[in-house]
Amino acid sequence: MAFVYRSVERSAPLQGVLDTDFSASLAVERTRLLYQGSLVPTLLMLLTGLICSWLLWTPGHHVLVSVWLGWLMTLVALRVIQVAAFDSSMPERQAAPLWRRMFLLGSAASGLTLAGAAIVLEPFESFLQQAWIFGLLGAAALSASIAYAVSFTAFLSFVLPCLVPPILWLFIHEGPHQRGWAWLGLMLLGSLCIVAWQVNRLIERSLLRRFQNQALIASLREEQRLISRLNSEMSEEMERRSAAEQALRAVQATLEERVAQRSRQLDQANQALSKSQARLALALEASELGMWDWDLRTDEVHHTELERLFGIAQQDRPVLLKHLRPRLHPDDVPALKRRLIDHLKGRTEDYCVEYRIRHSDGRWLWVEDRGRAVERTASGRVLRMLGTRRDITAVKEQQEQQRLAATVFEAMSEGIVVLDPEFTILAVNQAFTRITGYPGSACIGQALLELPCSRDLRRQFPQVHQALLERGGWQGELVEARHNGELYPQWLQVSPILDGHGVLSRVVVFCSDLSSRRASEERLHYLTYHDELTGLGNRSLFRQRLHDASQRARHNGRSLALLYIDLDRFKLLNDSLGHDMADQALRQIAKRICAALPEADTVARLGGDEFAVLFDAYTSLSGLIRMTTRLLTKIRAPLHLNEHDLTLTASIGISMLPDTAREGALLLGQADIARQQAKRLGGDGFQFFTENMQGHAHDRLQLEHQLRRALELGQLEVFYQPKLDLRSQVVGGVEALIRWRHPQRGLIGPDTFIELAEETGLITAIGEFVLRTACRQAREWQRQGFGELRMSVNLSGHQLRYGNLVTLIRQVLAESGLSPEALELELTESQWLDNLSGIQATFTQLRALGIKLAIDDFGTGYSALSYLKHLPVDYVKLDQAFIKELGESSADAAITQAVITMAHGLGLQVTAEGVENQVQLKVLQGQGCDEVQGYLVGRPVAADDFQHWLAVRGNEGVPLV
Ligand code: C2E
Ligand code: CA
Ligand code: CA
Repeated sequence: MAFVYRSVERSAPLQGVLDTDFSASLAVERTRLLYQGSLVPTLLMLLTGLICSWLLWTPGHHVLVSVWLGWLMTLVALRVIQVAAFDSSMPERQAAPLWRRMFLLGSAASGLTLAGAAIVLEPFESFLQQAWIFGLLGAAALSASIAYAVSFTAFLSFVLPCLVPPILWLFIHEGPHQRGWAWLGLMLLGSLCIVAWQVNRLIERSLLRRFQNQALIASLREEQRLISRLNSEMSEEMERRSAAEQALRAVQATLEERVAQRSRQLDQANQALSKSQARLALALEASELGMWDWDLRTDEVHHTELERLFGIAQQDRPVLLKHLRPRLHPDDVPALKRRLIDHLKGRTEDYCVEYRIRHSDGRWLWVEDRGRAVERTASGRVLRMLGTRRDITAVKEQQEQQRLAATVFEAMSEGIVVLDPEFTILAVNQAFTRITGYPGSACIGQALLELPCSRDLRRQFPQVHQALLERGGWQGELVEARHNGELYPQWLQVSPILDGHGVLSRVVVFCSDLSSRRASEERLHYLTYHDELTGLGNRSLFRQRLHDASQRARHNGRSLALLYIDLDRFKLLNDSLGHDMADQALRQIAKRICAALPEADTVARLGGDEFAVLFDAYTSLSGLIRMTTRLLTKIRAPLHLNEHDLTLTASIGISMLPDTAREGALLLGQADIARQQAKRLGGDGFQFFTENMQGHAHDRLQLEHQLRRALELGQLEVFYQPKLDLRSQVVGGVEALIRWRHPQRGLIGPDTFIELAEETGLITAIGEFVLRTACRQAREWQRQGFGELRMSVNLSGHQLRYGNLVTLIRQVLAESGLSPEALELELTESQWLDNLSGIQATFTQLRALGIKLAIDDFGTGYSALSYLKHLPVDYVKLDQAFIKELGESSADAAITQAVITMAHGLGLQVTAEGVENQVQLKVLQGQGCDEVQGYLVGRPVAADDFQHWLAVRGNEGVPLV
């Protein structure tokens, strides 16, 4: 890796070398080439000079020629010296520009010298001579030019002084041939320039390439050097490594040796340990103990014998504590925790606890844990606990058996005496003491026969003893005396208990007081026919008496009358004041009935708050009416129960034999139907049974049956009626009203069946249906963009008393997704007042959820305006009755005004119901009523119709015209 990295690093300078500008070295090389190449042209120039001098050596020219030749030779000598000096100088000094300048000077001087020959020594006489001279000079110029073409400057420095002056001179000198020579010179100059330029270019290029090659070779060499250095580094590194590896191997070998040695030691220790463990396990197995070792830091428990004791598999052990928790008996967990905490906190020396745990096969086992903390931190925190666990189920069962036996022994109503074979008392139970009057402490250790309470037994003992030995027991009636001397009949049963060898080991004597048994038989008989609470006869007695009386009546032609009495709204009293108070009330009413009807043959309580009275022979119908009226008056008188003053009323149904029934058995049913009618008519009254009622009762029964099915068959529907906000003219609410689409009778309003539903309890299911449907519908309308409609749902008091209303409403809201603020519950005023405190608690809870509450039909009940301030409500719904004559009756207007003012004073809003015309609306508007509901705004209609109505109307504050 390192090698690669470095080689990459090194390749950059190589590239640098290749890219270097060679101009400096080019210049040096050029100078060197100039000097090297200058020798031949210089010698050629010398030769030319000598030939020219020979050619021109004519008289008259001797001086000039010899001067020129002398100069030429000096120049040549100088230049040769110059070249020699250059060659001998150090290469780095050769780079000095001086050499170049010197050369240029030399070449210019050479050029001028040759030019001088052409101009000064020029022979004008002979053409041949001219040709020779110019030819020789041209040849010298040519050779020099080519040699100097290495540098264009050098070339020019020679050729220009050499050719330009003669050419100019020849042009100026107008001779017959001079022009020709001048032109020839000019051509020579031109062609020389071209050739020199060409040569210069070629040389330059080849030089450049040479330099590049040299640079490349140099960098490659550098690279090679580098690589070989790296290689040597690497081989050094490898050597080091192999040395280290060898060292490591040596260390490993010693370590292995040591580990093997340690393992051998451990093996020996383990063998010793497993031997002692095996011994411990044997001991534990023999003692049926499991051992546990709990590491509190990791919560790991090691446990032996788990599988055998508790059926817990091996793999479950590491997480035993967590697994054990759900197996523990929930009743034992607190005690177990307490003991453990006590021990962990150091409050107890030892940890000992018994608890139940479920075996894997499902049985409950009793387990005893004993242990103690064996490791603690300096601060006392327990780190480890050791202990044993033992299955004590058998012990516990035995204890339980003993406890049971002891309990039975003590709880038996019969007296029990346990005796040894000599009839010495070992134990007696409480019943024995109760029967005989002798306490256990006084009897134990005594001989039974010597006790004064065994008078008769003593007398009959020989027979008893013989029977005991021969027939395996004796029983019979004795007359014994109690401690106080009273004699009583006693039933005695003596049984032997034999040991494993068939030898008598114990004798058990059971004795019962026959006199008390007789009393309880009588009491049983009494209870069979009487009501314990009131002491009156019960339904059985009443039936029997009715049967007897009707038999008698048939025999002697007399008449019978039956009164069926039912207290009004007694259930409410039961719910609100509790059973004790209700029982007291029933007792007092029973007394009043008996006192009011001394002439009655039988007065019975049939159950609950229902009583029946039988008149064996009544004198006249008017007498019967008088008696019944008197009875109602007596019942109606205020009752004082503890600190409560109550008023109870009753509904009474009357049937008569032979007037309404020919069979006594029918009388009760008929009186019941008449009672129901009396109740329907408002209670606190009586009704005689008529055939008509029978039919009516039958109808109701049928309706009830159909109503039960209606819910299942989906015949119930919810209609919706709008509520208009008078200030904004917006439909702000809607009331959900139940309808029954009866298969034969068509659409039925709630007035026909709500009461029945309440009586039969069906209202709970119906109410839930309406609530669900209405909430779902409200949410749906919200989704469709009809705005925030407050959905009102009517509640029945029954739902509040017997349903878990709050839970139901929470559930329905969650299911439908409707927010609690969009739901309003309406409850009529009378239902409010029936159970004020109970309802108040529920409503406070509902209000806390955010639900709106309204008092319905306000003004029809007790009209207790003052109650308003105690009720957690938001709306008051003015009853239709007040609205009906609004505008005509100033009294009604005064009432509505009062209610509105009062409600506003308490921060409540008022909704007026049953608004049917503009007059009513105007009055209500004038009185500051908040909201109206009625046919004027809209009738109750099915959901689809309501939606259509709302869509057509648009909910944007359309005023009512
Ligand atoms: P409510 O709660 O007082 O309902 C108002 C009643 O007045 C409705 O009768 C409605 O149709 C009627 N009404 C509305 N506007 C006018 C009007 O302008 N003129 C006249 N004459 N009547 C109008 P409906 O639907 O027959 O209900 C009667 C009663 O049945 C309700 O009286 C309510 O107490 C009870 N009810 C209805 N639905 C339910 C329900 O789901 N649960 C319970 N527990 N009771 C319900
Ligand atoms: Ca209502
Ligand atoms: Ca109402």
